[in-house]
Amino acid sequence: MVDLAAIVADIGAEMAAAPERGVPAQYIPPLACVDPARFGMAVIEADGTCHLAGDADMPFSIQSISKVFALTMALGREGDRIWSRVGREPSGSAFNSIVQLETEHGIPRNPFINAGAIVVSDILLARHEPRELIGEMLRFIRTLAGDEDIFIDEAVARAEQQTGFRNFALANYMKAFGNLQNDPARALGVYFHQCSLALSCRQLAMAGRFLMRGGVNPETGFNIVSAERARRINALMLTCGHYDGSGEFAFRVGLPGKSGVGGGILAIAPGKASVAVWSPGLDAKGNSQLGKLALERLAARAGWSIFDAPVAEGAR
Ligand code: GLN
Repeated sequence: MVDLAAIVADIGAEMAAAPERGVPAQYIPPLACVDPARFGMAVIEADGTCHLAGDADMPFSIQSISKVFALTMALGREGDRIWSRVGREPSGSAFNSIVQLETEHGIPRNPFINAGAIVVSDILLARHEPRELIGEMLRFIRTLAGDEDIFIDEAVARAEQQTGFRNFALANYMKAFGNLQNDPARALGVYFHQCSLALSCRQLAMAGRFLMRGGVNPETGFNIVSAERARRINALMLTCGHYDGSGEFAFRVGLPGKSGVGGGILAIAPGKASVAVWSPGLDAKGNSQLGKLALERLAARAGWSIFDAPVAEGAR
């Protein structure tokens, strides 16, 4: 039998002592001063059992992890029409790269790189004011997590607005190709606010539960998205969730996962668990150094990699 409580406690202790912690994101000033000694982890099993380690209840900036929730909303609202404006292939490039947009006519490779997420914001903005949409996103994630304390960190949103020159470049470039319907500043206003959602590991793992349960919200028993869409969101997380580090993440961890430059990662063990980890130090590709290591150890010790052959219960 796998003793998950012991595994999570052990990983928490190992990460607290880890020497190689990476460097917090420097280009968004409020993120640069987060203490790299932080580490948190929350594992929520299919039956609702929750295991926590370290700073699991400390809110952090979820950044690009919000792209999973924005994509979920866009699929719910617009369905498969979104795929004419954003692709489904790994980019093999940095999260904020502009190079492929030129040869690919302003159609971003996937919804999890910055360009793709800005297009998703633009799609969601149709018929809405940015303020309404931001409020709706906040309500959506509070509902998914079953937690009304989740908030948007306005200081982070403001900092992104002031320093997000690359994102302005991406949005303007796509506007020139006709792949943004709104004014770039409006789409970016939404994008910066969704990136500034602050959640703890516990809240984030709660919000991810529908992805381990075939799209069903465990609070209500109703679907957030269809089982088919949940499967496909997981597929995109596996292939694109860590940008040019996605292959390495699949190789080492073997779970659908989405990272953010705040140092968080949401990972899904389909049918088994929703997991959130957080440690602000990043590797060279902008993915949490200890977050990846913690998930690698968790997936290996629990036998959760989606590439593991199923082993009869008791034989492990
Ligand atoms: N808000 C960040 C940006 O636009 C998100 C990037 C990330 O988390 N990888 O640069």
